[in-house]
Amino acid sequence: TGTVAVRVHASPLPEDRVLLELTDVTELHRVEKVRRDFVANVSHELKTPVGALQLLTEALADAVDDPQAAARFTSRIQHESARMGRLVSELLELSRLQGAEPLPAFSPVSVDRVVNEAADRSRTAANAKRIALHRTGESGATVSGSESQLATAVGNLVRNAIVYSPEDTTVTIDVTETRGWVKVAVIDQGIGIAPADQARVFERFYRADPARSRATGGTGLGLAIVKHIAGNHAGRVEVSSMPGNGSVFTLLLPSVALSARESAPPPDEI
Ligand code: ADP
Repeated sequence: TGTVAVRVHASPLPEDRVLLELTDVTELHRVEKVRRDFVANVSHELKTPVGALQLLTEALADAVDDPQAAARFTSRIQHESARMGRLVSELLELSRLQGAEPLPAFSPVSVDRVVNEAADRSRTAANAKRIALHRTGESGATVSGSESQLATAVGNLVRNAIVYSPEDTTVTIDVTETRGWVKVAVIDQGIGIAPADQARVFERFYRADPARSRATGGTGLGLAIVKHIAGNHAGRVEVSSMPGNGSVFTLLLPSVALSARESAPPPDEI
């Protein structure tokens, strides 16, 4: 099923005839709907923290004589404004990735360096939950790409692994190279993802557990950004998970050697 736009032209045909012009506008309608849904989602996502900030600042103003309550409100104001800041910067990031700006120049990037730096940046967050962050498999692999985009992609996966894991667990970031494909696997022992949610978590604003995502400062955009970055690098991102048994997110990228040869499709089993 689709949508057809009909236009009736009177001339230049003989008087008892008209010319019907049929145009398939299915794709146009779909794009329009995606755009409307996106604007509605963004408005909703911004309304929640803005509403919370309004209430919290009023409460703070009323709490002048209660320093403990004032401290509580202040910390929640900081949390909500930080989340709003992340939302706005991730929206900008996503719109850049979706082609609003030209792609950055690609150059050879060391995957080990990107991964080691992402691990270093995540140590404070991991330590706060006594999560052991392991970095395994120095591959020596190089991909052709944007170092800052790849750092964002790996950083988002590691951040999620920490956020969606309980305390005293382990997060492992493993890098391997097989048949010209570099595999970055982020393995956690966290809450896991139900099969029905696994395909959808890469959609913008989709969350398996909205309340939990918001409470942890999530924007619902992190994995959509990872998926775009993987696509920009002719790669892909996948998840394998069991609820209650942790998740493995895998970023698969063609290595420089393979992109030069332009051969073999990505392995089926990763
Ligand atoms: P968010 O900001 O909500 O974390 P993401 O796009 O990064 O947004 O992730 C989308 C959803 O996927 C999350 O809300 C969460 O439900 C689920 N998710 C992502 N990573 C993990 C993980 N490592 N373990 C369990 N659930 C995850």
